[in-house]
Amino acid sequence: MYLKESKIIVIKIGSSLLIDDNKKIRKKWLSGFSRDIQELLNQNKKIIIVSSGAIAMGCKKLNLSKKNLKLDKSQAIASIGQIELMNLFSKTFLKFKINISQILLTLEDTEQRRRALNAKRTFENLFQLGFVPIVNENDSIATSEIKYGDNDRLASRVAQISGADALILLSDVDGLYTQNPKIYKNAKLLRIIKDINQDIEKIATKSIGEHGTGGMKTKIDAAKICQLSGCKMAIANGLSLRPIKKIINKNNCTWFLPKISKLDARKKWIISSVSPKGELYIDDGAKQALTKGKSLLAAGIKKVTGKFNKGDHIKILDKINKECARGLSSFSSDEILKIMGHHSKEIEKLLGYISKSEVVHKDDMVEL
Ligand code: GLU
Repeated sequence: MYLKESKIIVIKIGSSLLIDDNKKIRKKWLSGFSRDIQELLNQNKKIIIVSSGAIAMGCKKLNLSKKNLKLDKSQAIASIGQIELMNLFSKTFLKFKINISQILLTLEDTEQRRRALNAKRTFENLFQLGFVPIVNENDSIATSEIKYGDNDRLASRVAQISGADALILLSDVDGLYTQNPKIYKNAKLLRIIKDINQDIEKIATKSIGEHGTGGMKTKIDAAKICQLSGCKMAIANGLSLRPIKKIINKNNCTWFLPKISKLDARKKWIISSVSPKGELYIDDGAKQALTKGKSLLAAGIKKVTGKFNKGDHIKILDKINKECARGLSSFSSDEILKIMGHHSKEIEKLLGYISKSEVVHKDDMVEL
């Protein structure tokens, strides 16, 4: 039912759906999946696919094992495998008259507002041209510190940037269970989750995941991003030959429903950052001011951690170390170290140059 009402849908497929344990390509599966996509397109839905599999396809071509690959080697392998992956999509989708394009993203492309907007525009133009974008992380150039590393969180950020109504994470698990279903017979599939509380997080950390990089932890991280950006998200088993049709007909999966959001697109982008660079710890007075929709001033900051530049994403935490807001800092962490605890009027003297008076402006901040 959630898919019927969705106009823009992002579908993420894990490597294990494309290639089996014996490194054989699951051609029949990809044909079934293509048919599903064709049906969605016929209903005028806009589709983005986020596909893993570059490294798996590269390993297949070179007859190497995925295990214990060093980063530089896996980058080269991803560069070899990405072409194989796209060839596979191109050949199969052509049979169903589906036009595809490729977009390779790095973490910075989604975390810098200008680049994220650029990506959004590219998606919109591709929709207009009638092409289905197939996205993957640009594994060949992303270094470990600035890497998503898993396509679950990447897909959620793509969903947020493209303004998608739904994200489906297809993997080889049915969804989130109350307990590990392989051990406990009475484990129940959680069908609808409205609040990702500590109980849900606990279940997720204990769950067994798919073969891919993510497991359940990154899927829950993705769900949190979706929840804040107003997008429904499903964790579903993609192993059947018509995986999307099965979700529509049987709904045998876990859906995470979004919180009602009045945030504009820019604030949704701020709140769903996947890589805040630091933390500001504030006092009660500053917290009260934030609740009233005011900016964060230097006077209310008690501590700063992390190293960041002007314009970077940061977390704001209260006296009991609870995250209470997210925002973009108007100062670098080094500057904040010099001005924290001081009145805004003193900033110019302390730094030796004229600057803004708010550390995080209210327009650049979202309360949690
Ligand atoms: N980007 C990686 C690949 O194409 C996959 C990451 C993941 O498994 O989520 O091989």
